[in-house]
Amino acid sequence: MAKFFLFIVVLAVIYWLVRASNRRSKPPPATGMPEPMTQCAHCGVHFPRTESLSEGERDYCCEDHRRLGVRS
Ligand SMILES: [Zn+2]
Repeated sequence: MAKFFLFIVVLAVIYWLVRASNRRSKPPPATGMPEPMTQCAHCGVHFPRTESLSEGERDYCCEDHRRLGVRS
């Protein structure tokens, strides 16, 4: 009976360790709403819409690309 009890304790410890390591490997929880993404009309890079420079209906990643406009 003592061996059976020890077996249960070992299982519980293994279970706890697996849970703890899984928790560590998870990415940190996202804060708030997921940011809407947009694409630079010049270089095509994706970035958060809140950082975009808009001109008309197009978004640009930086002032240089806004000035250069849509890449042909
Ligand atoms: Zn760009």
